[in-house]
Formats: sequence, C-alpha cells, structure tokens
Amino acid sequence: MEDVFGFADDLGPTKIIHVYEPSAGLKAVLVVDNVAKGPAIGGVRMAPDVSTEECIRLARAMTLKNAAAGLPHGGGKVVLYGDPKMPKEEKEHLIRALANSLRDIREYIFAPDMGTDEECMAWVKDEIGRVVALPREVGGIPLDEIGATGWGLSHVTDVAIEYCDFKLEGAKVVVQGFGAVGKHTARFLDRKRAVLVGAADSQGAIHNPEGLDVDALIELKKAGRSVADYPDGNKLDRDAVIDIECDIWIPAARPDVIHEDNVGRLKARLVIEGANIPLTHGAEKYLHNRGMICVPDFIANAGGVICAAMEYQGAGEAAAFKTIEEKLRRNTRQVLEEAKGKQIPPREAAVHLAVQRVKKAMSYRRWLVF
Ligand code: NAD
Repeated sequence: MEDVFGFADDLGPTKIIHVYEPSAGLKAVLVVDNVAKGPAIGGVRMAPDVSTEECIRLARAMTLKNAAAGLPHGGGKVVLYGDPKMPKEEKEHLIRALANSLRDIREYIFAPDMGTDEECMAWVKDEIGRVVALPREVGGIPLDEIGATGWGLSHVTDVAIEYCDFKLEGAKVVVQGFGAVGKHTARFLDRKRAVLVGAADSQGAIHNPEGLDVDALIELKKAGRSVADYPDGNKLDRDAVIDIECDIWIPAARPDVIHEDNVGRLKARLVIEGANIPLTHGAEKYLHNRGMICVPDFIANAGGVICAAMEYQGAGEAAAFKTIEEKLRRNTRQVLEEAKGKQIPPREAAVHLAVQRVKKAMSYRRWLVF
C-alpha cells in the first residue's frame, strides 16, 4: 500500500478513492485534490501502468491550473488501469462501470485525458450526466477540433512578447508536435503574422528559415502524413527541432523534452509551454538565469480546460473563445509582471498566484463538502 499521506499538504488531496470491481475488470483511482473553488474538473487517464502517486500529482496540477485560470472549479484526476486500445465494446463497458462506481462523488466532474476521448465522455454522460468535453451532437464544444488550447497559446504569446525586445509580426516560430495543440497554435500565430520556420511530429522535423506554409502542413497531417514530408524545406531528425534558430519555441508534444542536458541547445528568445511539463524545472531555471522568458504550462495551455468549463455552464464556442482570450491575456500579464518585479522565474510567480487563489477560496468555506 502506497503511503498516500506522504503527499498531503495544506491544500489536499481531500479524497482518494480506490475503485476495484473484479467482475467488471475495473481498477481505478480517483483523487479529488481541492474543491474550495468548486467541483473538481480533471481528466480520466487510461493506461496499463498508471499509479496512485501519478494521480495525486496530476490532480494537484489541475487544482493549480483551474485556480490560475480563474475557474469555479477545483482539481481532480482519475487513473484507469487498462489498455486504451482494447476492443471498443470492452472499453465502453469499463468506462460505464467507472462512471457508475463514482456516481455519488459529486465533487468530481469527468473529463478526457490520455487514453480517453469525447466518445468515452458521451458514455459517462449517458450513465451519470456529470461530464465535460462531450461530442457536439450531445451539447459539447469539440475543443481539439476548434483549437481552444492553441487559441489561448496565441494570446499568451502575444502578451509575453511585450516583455521581450522583438515584435510578433515577423517573429520566427518553431513548434514541436503538430497535433491538436501544435497545429492550431501555428495557425493562430500565422494569422498574427508570425512566421513558422520549423515544425516536428513523432516522425521527423522540417525547417525553412524563409517560412513554412501552415495550411499545407495541416493538410499533410490530415492526410495521415508527417510534417517532414513537406516539400519546400530541410528534413531533419525529430529531435533536431531543438536546434532550429528562432524567436519563439513552442513545445506541444511530450513531457520533459527539454532538460538540463539539452536546454543549452535552444536558440530562441521566448518559450511558451503548450505541452504539459515539457521542460524540467532545472531547464526552466537555466533559461531564467539567461534572461529568457518561459511561460509555464498551466498558465499557457489552460485554453482547453476553460473551454470545458464554459461547456459545463452551457456556453457556446464564441463565448468560450472570448473567455479564453480574456482570462489568458490577464493571467499571463499578471504572472510576468510579478516575475519581473520580484526577479523570479514565471513558474514561481504562477504557482504563487494559483495557491493564493485556492487559499482565498478556502477561507470562504466552512467545510469543503458538496
Ligand atoms: P496530439 O496527440 O493531438 O498531438 C501530439 C503531437 O506530438 C503529434 O503531432 C505527434 O506526432 C507529436 N509528437 C509525439 N512525440 C513527439 C516527439 N518526441 N517529438 C516531436 N513530436 C512528437 O496531442 P495534443 O492534444 O496536441 O497534446 C499535446 C500536449 O499538450 C500533451 O502534452 C497534452 O497533455 C498537452 N495539452 C493538450 C491540451 C489539449 O487541449 N489537447 C491542453 C493542455 C495540454
């Protein structure tokens, strides 16, 4: 048995629920970290090798992200043991069983994460109703299709530029990862007249210092091909995307891609974290010590969860986009102002902002039960 209390602090977690139904093949853990700001939103992560510890850390990350985004929601997470690529019928059975087993835990709202998607959320809605990120046909806003997170990242970049000595118009951008987050970020920045000079996906990278055609790259991905198949540029190995000279480098793929051993290779002036934990804390500190701004993940990539929270309130796409823009511009400015004033890394300022908001919300509550 893991010593889960070793992870507890004055924010949480408030509940850790282990779900085990051998007859349904169901093994899962729900961590509700903190609900002072409202019922927790956080995704269901499905994989064979998840753990309670991972769930606790991810739930805390959601508490901070939701608080920083100014949402009336706390943070939580579910890990579900299993192969996400199992036959669809089996997966549906498992997700429905999971939803039922957590039917009465009203302080947790289901959402998708790695291994689950909007279809899984539709099954949850059918069982218990308490869920976000649904398919359009049942009232959802398809946030990956419309690029909610990329929209947010483009506004975060626009504000962060004010703290740099160059303009967004004509700035050279490199995006690592050309999926839901990366391609839409590239598209929205292209509209703001930034120039995409490098892009990578899991199969390779492409570089052209004169600029890449973002729409053509998106078409390539739609056709199931790689950005490296783009004809007018230099094909590179996937990880060589780190070495491309640019003004703005945007990780939008995997965790820990920049660490102490390779951070010195980055030739950028601004990093905007689209992926979750793409830089180790050591790498972020290295950049800070060299005067480079790095906007942390839970500030920069909150567009998706803001969209999900808006969907839960019954809002439409246009209202969701407007709210993402307003909240992320305000938060980015607040974090970068504090970081500048106190000469601290933006992550430190962001954590401070989020924890203060959670503690303030906690001070209004007598007892945190729904
Ligand atoms: P996705 O699966 O749609 O796209 C991932 C992209 O990264 C793909 O193009 C893939 O080929 C590429 N990739 C994978 N490994 C790579 C590597 N080693 N080098 C270069 N490219 C690589 O995923 P997504 O939804 O775009 O999410 C990307 C990241 O952003 C994840 O860390 C995710 O947790 C985070 N995130 C996503 C959202 C969202 O709204 N989708 C919100 C917040 C954070």
